[in-house]
Amino acid sequence: MDHSEQPHLMDAPFYVEQAGEVALFEHAFRQRLPVLIKGPTGCGKTRFVEHMAARLGRPLITVSCHDDLSAADLVGRHLISAQGTVWADGPLARAVRSGAICYLDEVVEARKDTTVVLHPLADDRRVLPIERTGEQLAAPPGFMLVVSYNPGYQNLLKSLKPSTRQRFIALSFDYPAPEVERRIVAAEAGVDPAAAAQLVQLAQSLRRLTDHDLEETASTRLLVMAGRLVASGLPLYAACRAAIVDALTDDLETAAALDDVVQAVL
Ligand code: ADP
Repeated sequence: MDHSEQPHLMDAPFYVEQAGEVALFEHAFRQRLPVLIKGPTGCGKTRFVEHMAARLGRPLITVSCHDDLSAADLVGRHLISAQGTVWADGPLARAVRSGAICYLDEVVEARKDTTVVLHPLADDRRVLPIERTGEQLAAPPGFMLVVSYNPGYQNLLKSLKPSTRQRFIALSFDYPAPEVERRIVAAEAGVDPAAAAQLVQLAQSLRRLTDHDLEETASTRLLVMAGRLVASGLPLYAACRAAIVDALTDDLETAAALDDVVQAVL
């Protein structure tokens, strides 16, 4: 399990708003409503949550969900120590106790039993029942549940049940509009506006390619990575090849097609 905690940050991490999502999130927080963010990988979901946690002055506890993640991993378990058996809170219980924002990234990956613990937390009850200890943790006002998933990956086996989805306010994310993405790439990678504009133009062309077997296309994250290589002195083509083309595919034919697009744009 990979989870990290951030103390209250005075300076919110850099985030360029796309379409009113900051106000929406603030309203959801005030109304104690949980939020579901959907969108392709690398489009800014995690950064947005980090930014909002700092803005709202809440600690953030992030859990990257995977197919082995169970309810006990989230809630906690008894551990055997020299003193005997002690209870250890999982990240979700810690978030509830401390009034933090708990962000479950790629929640559909988690095992099905996790939804059982999310339901009473995600509706008006706002409680986390801890079966093993008999506790019922009531969430303080500062607690907020945020989950994300990537609809592109979805298959029938991996989707949120309607009874789960309907407990959340949904925010739909996509790659930022070109002018916004240029600002993000310039700021995050430290490249000049001309290089940022070329990278974004390249992404626009790559995102239009549909006849190749790509699971994912060029994300903002990949553009920032290519930009960082450029800022460090690598020529633009080499940076795009390493950070974008070869990062997106292992298939030689697909790589050649992506490379054609790179050559045409740069
Ligand atoms: P996701 O969680 O959707 O996979 P991230 O939030 O990790 O994506 O975004 C990947 C990177 O793209 C971030 O580290 C950041 O550099 C950049 N980024 C994407 N969107 C934005 C944005 N709106 N404002 C600032 N940076 C952004």
